[in-house]
Amino acid sequence: MRKTRKLFTPGPVPIDSHILELGCQQLAYNRTPEFSALTQETLAGLNYVFQTKGKTAILTNSGTGAMEAAVLNFLDHSDRVLIINGGTFGQRWCDLCSLHSIDFSEIKVDAGQDVDVDHLSEMVAQKKFTALLINAHETATGQLYDIELIGKIARQYGLMFIVDAISSVCADRFSMDDWHVDVALLSSQKALALPPGLSFVAMSERAQTRLQSSNPKSLYFNLSDYLVNQERGQLPYTPAIGLLTQLHQRLQDIKQATIPAIIKQHADMASQFRCSLGDLGLRVFASRSSNALTSVACKNDNALEIVQALREQYNIEVAPSGGALKDKIFRVSHMGAIKTTDVDILVQALKQITRLNS
Ligand SMILES: *Cc1c(COP(=O)(O)O)cnc(C)c1O
Repeated sequence: MRKTRKLFTPGPVPIDSHILELGCQQLAYNRTPEFSALTQETLAGLNYVFQTKGKTAILTNSGTGAMEAAVLNFLDHSDRVLIINGGTFGQRWCDLCSLHSIDFSEIKVDAGQDVDVDHLSEMVAQKKFTALLINAHETATGQLYDIELIGKIARQYGLMFIVDAISSVCADRFSMDDWHVDVALLSSQKALALPPGLSFVAMSERAQTRLQSSNPKSLYFNLSDYLVNQERGQLPYTPAIGLLTQLHQRLQDIKQATIPAIIKQHADMASQFRCSLGDLGLRVFASRSSNALTSVACKNDNALEIVQALREQYNIEVAPSGGALKDKIFRVSHMGAIKTTDVDILVQALKQITRLNS
């Protein structure tokens, strides 16, 4: 069999071997007191990574399912939603609102640019909006938004603040309660460094109150059912049991290491990689980067060629971009079990490829 490729992709990410091994074990039955205890510890661990005293629902699906659950449970036809749209994942909020007939306006943000906070303030000062939707890190472009600052604006105008923090939590500082975030989302295959298949919806007091009067047209995504069952450490439907076992262990590891140390690990890998770009004739594309990922701008419009050369000649997987950015940027993830030596290997490969191309 071909040697597994080195992953520098924003999901899936490299996974620690002791976590991988847990995934090969025979499953436990989930309707037991032991499993309930494991779920309770897991919920506490999730609240630690979100930095919240609120409640978190555990869903069995990829991150988009958590986005859809947020739209179904916290928004309805009486809302007027404002969406920050700076790429593929901002667009996904728009698509979900369109699909579920939620009235919305969008602030389009150019790729690689930050949100114009003055413009945002002017828009919400018109008092037409009830909710603000954003992605903490727009993974399509590598742009990290200032959620702390935007949270202050949301609070000033009483907006329900819903943040897709899927590719930011554990990689960048994220403090749900202090930043006035009402609903925050995360999924397993990003900086949590687990296989895909689980996602999490964290809810403030205010979001929980809203939930009580919400009437989502969905059985599987009815978040109230999750909160009621989780009170006794259970989930309403058969969960991804193996994944939950891996999550439980990973959260114990994070708790022991502490969140600041996990964030620093991402920051270190990101800065090691970014420091090498100048020599390669490449540069960072985003004006404010997440530690999770570097979007790399290629001046010769050869981004896709570089992605293919890394895959075919060096057995390294980085992420291409879509749409208008296809030839302009590629994306290098710093999430998961990546070491200094891995970054060295990637940089050496890029050195050889860019030398050949120049
Ligand atoms: C990965 C990601 C998602 C979820 O994508 P799935 O493929 O459904 O897991 C959502 N938002 C952002 C910002 C992401 O990076």
